[in-house]
Amino acid sequence: TSPLKLSVQMFPYEGNRKLLLSRDVTSIELADAMRRDFVANVSHEIRTPLTVLTGFIETLQTLPLSSEERTQYLALMSNQAQRMQSLVADLLTLSRLEGNPPPSLKEWVGVRSLMRRCEEDAHGLARMIAKDGDKPLHLNFPQMQSLDEAGLEVAGAGNELQSALSNLVNNAVRYTPAGGDITVQFVLQEDGTGRFSVMDTGPGIAPEHIPRLTERFYRLDRSRSRDTGGTGLGLAIVKHVLQRHGAQLQIRSTLGKGSEFVVVFPASRMRKADTEALV
Ligand code: ADP
Repeated sequence: TSPLKLSVQMFPYEGNRKLLLSRDVTSIELADAMRRDFVANVSHEIRTPLTVLTGFIETLQTLPLSSEERTQYLALMSNQAQRMQSLVADLLTLSRLEGNPPPSLKEWVGVRSLMRRCEEDAHGLARMIAKDGDKPLHLNFPQMQSLDEAGLEVAGAGNELQSALSNLVNNAVRYTPAGGDITVQFVLQEDGTGRFSVMDTGPGIAPEHIPRLTERFYRLDRSRSRDTGGTGLGLAIVKHVLQRHGAQLQIRSTLGKGSEFVVVFPASRMRKADTEALV
């Protein structure tokens, strides 16, 4: 509901008459403001790790440090460099997704392999972010055997679909406190649509934030996001990938109880192996 912005120009016209040209520039101004916001966000996200890095470099150059201290500093520096690397990688992914034509409908990706990779990634990430003495997370994935029997496939680009689904699972791992439960499913529904869901027992998300979660750099908990390697671009990437595959993202959440992220693939993009698409 931003106010209407008009650009008005006046030109001399036959005799002493004038020609008034008025253009609605609301959307141009909005796009401009979004671009400025985006650049400011990116600059901020890069500046923070850079400041930390230059600080450490200065310390290494000026202070006599023990070899343990040096090792410790270098590990911290490597963390900051990795943060910048992830940010640049996510920015490149986003720009590629925006620039490329939608993926072909002729390639089919096995749901089993998508789920298996999600499971491996989730276990790896959970191990990486667990602190000593933490209760483990319970990660519940569909039985590979049942997925094999179903022989389900989705049409689209395997690498894009993998990154979108893994992203949702990884977010559940990152935001659910130790000892919590995460349940992942992929089912073919009666109407032929495919339903992927990730349910967690994390902090939940207040309703007013839900519509904005897929905006670039929109984060509720900046420090948790950063501590677990977040760039703030994950859900923006997920949204783009799903749009390109005609799929929809639904988010349900109850504060204090947990969240559910659901992806619905249209029936035309689902099939059982060796059979035609389901509609
Ligand atoms: P980030 O890298 O910060 O995780 P995302 O785009 O993946 O960026 O997510 C945006 C924000 O949405 C996160 O910072 C977090 O606040 C919130 N969020 C995403 N997934 C969950 C979840 N499963 N539970 C609670 N909050 C979540």
